[in-house]
Amino acid sequence: MKKKKNDILLCDLDAFFASVELLDNPALEGIPVLVGGSPEGRGVVSTCSYEARKYGVRSAMPMKKALALCPGAVVLRGRMSRYKEMSDQVRLIFQRFTPDIEFVSIDEAYLAVKEGRGPVTGRAIHTAVREELGLPISVGISVNKLLAKIACELAKPNNVGAIWPVDIQDRLWPLPIRMLPGIGPVTEEKLHRLGIKTIRDLASCPKKTLVRVFGNNTETIHCYAHGIDNREFEAEHEAKSISEETTFPEDIHDREAIQAVLLELSSGVGYRLRSSGTSARTITLKLRFKDFRTITRSISLPETICRDSDIYRAARSLFEKHCSKPPWRLVGVQASGFEQGSQISLLKPSPEEEKEGKLTLTRDTLRKKYGSEVVFQGRRLKKK
Ligand SMILES: [Mg+2]
Repeated sequence: MKKKKNDILLCDLDAFFASVELLDNPALEGIPVLVGGSPEGRGVVSTCSYEARKYGVRSAMPMKKALALCPGAVVLRGRMSRYKEMSDQVRLIFQRFTPDIEFVSIDEAYLAVKEGRGPVTGRAIHTAVREELGLPISVGISVNKLLAKIACELAKPNNVGAIWPVDIQDRLWPLPIRMLPGIGPVTEEKLHRLGIKTIRDLASCPKKTLVRVFGNNTETIHCYAHGIDNREFEAEHEAKSISEETTFPEDIHDREAIQAVLLELSSGVGYRLRSSGTSARTITLKLRFKDFRTITRSISLPETICRDSDIYRAARSLFEKHCSKPPWRLVGVQASGFEQGSQISLLKPSPEEEKEGKLTLTRDTLRKKYGSEVVFQGRRLKKK
């Protein structure tokens, strides 16, 4: 099959959590806003407004340090369900422009559109999100994910920009190596010692030198330095997995709280499975610990599932088996191993199962109509 060519857009909301807070409370206008954990504990900044960034505050910085840099900042704990609600609104806007969307996180998605349509679509999305939701968003446009991502970084904040293959020498090569995915502070340091500072330096460096730093990833990084990115575009409608995750603004020690979040994530995954008429055979739990160590643990089931309670049961059993010691920083639930059509069980459903089936149907209908926050299960109330 001939592969069709697309323009790729990266749409990334600017300082998303802080922008939502500003939107809901205009009195914060002009004041630096930090969303994250408490400065008394070992809380970190999860998002900071551009106002706060002027003081050198960055995300993932300890809150204490952020406040030392920017004593006038307002610290907010964050309202995940509100952010999720706004994210869903943005998602609906994206869907008006293309069905080919790959969601990266709550505030970021790649979109594929017909070749040549990128710039027009990018500007239209920017305007729609600004005018309809009042949120700042940046859009990067190119022919692949890598260049779209970099174009977006350069456009930020609140702007639209493109990098095309003809721009590689003039616009990609002068950039610092840190702009490439996969180059963090440690790798950057190693490359600096080899005299490699810009992407141009990297592009012209012999591969056998790079092998010492990148090993098996040398080819990929070499391609990136030339603006080539062979990563597949994985649109949601043909996704191989459906997942939801939550990063906590500070360490969570409470097992019950994690279980409540697991239930919430499981119903999110269940809803998306049912909406796409699929059921899944494999459930994966993702956990991140305080030291940023991340594990994923899966279970494959004898039957495919799509009910919230089945997904939750699987995720919870994985959690109980592998949760290790608190505190936790992130928890995620993923479903994969899809089969089209909901599983028809050979056994007659028990009255309990029948009741749950009916309830689920009602919840899904309400959710489709009014959004995710209207419908919740009793257990989630205990979180407060
Ligand atoms: Mg963002």
